[in-house]
Amino acid sequence: MSLIVVGTMAFDAIETPFGKSDRVIGGSATYVAYAAANFVQPVQQVSIVGNDFPQEEMAELSRRGVELDGVEVVPDKPSFFWSGRYHMDMNTRDTLVTDLNVLADFDPQIPESYQGAEFLMLGNLMPSLQKKVIEQLKERPRLIVMDTMNFWMEIALDDLKEVLTMVDVLLVNDSEARQLTNEFSLVKAAKKILKMGPKYLIIKKGEHGALLFHGDNVFFAPALPLEDVFDPTGAGDTFAGGFIGHIARTKDISYENMKTAIIVGSAMASFCVEKFGPERLKEITRADIDRRLQQFQELVNFDIELV
Ligand code: AMP
Repeated sequence: MSLIVVGTMAFDAIETPFGKSDRVIGGSATYVAYAAANFVQPVQQVSIVGNDFPQEEMAELSRRGVELDGVEVVPDKPSFFWSGRYHMDMNTRDTLVTDLNVLADFDPQIPESYQGAEFLMLGNLMPSLQKKVIEQLKERPRLIVMDTMNFWMEIALDDLKEVLTMVDVLLVNDSEARQLTNEFSLVKAAKKILKMGPKYLIIKKGEHGALLFHGDNVFFAPALPLEDVFDPTGAGDTFAGGFIGHIARTKDISYENMKTAIIVGSAMASFCVEKFGPERLKEITRADIDRRLQQFQELVNFDIELV
């Protein structure tokens, strides 16, 4: 039951209409790891940080069963830095700064101890590096899930399309699905993406839930209506961590189980947005997660008599 997680470990500066944070811990792999470690251990992390990434954060991750042998520490450079500003709806944002820093010359090396992993979560990262990781694995994992972002569609589309041919599941948000296909209809966009390589596609729609496409099938998971959303940063990665965490725990890669996995992903994402950075993810217990899953069940459970 092993899971490799690849992605960024970073500092973020976030602005929302309701507040501002200067420098909080972020990064796609950080959020994925915090979420997934609730379901599966070890989480075998592959990433890179600079001399400024806090030791306490590393210690907290390893306390939760995240192995850090695949995380390179560069002594003389700062960590990846991203800054974004959310719009009034908190569903859309503008990237203000992307400073690659250590990421610019990252050459991921998979430790020998990670070989044989059953599941691979390619968190948001340069597509060429996502590909490098897949190529280093001596045995193909049972399921490869990939996340990406508009930024890479703009500067590395060809590489991204190549990685798409190598993965099983793609996770994108609605605007990214539209950007990748030039289709406004998400159903048409999904059809096109499913021809690019992945057999499964998850389209996240922020506070409007997520869609899972496979062949001609489509399944919908709602997002939990929350009174306060402080910071949506990392919600997508946390969703991914919950999704792959559930799959890795159950070892079941069927479409039916993926339906449950996107509910688990939505539940985890609903925690993430309640505080800045990954703070809320560090507070919650297994009991909190179970209670929230119960809320999801109540949210969508209804009887109907068809005549
Ligand atoms: P999400 O809100 O789930 O899309 O993820 C936000 C996280 O992704 C932040 O913590 C950032 O540090 C990280 N991030 C932002 N831009 C990139 C990028 N181009 N590549 C990798 N990670 C990124």
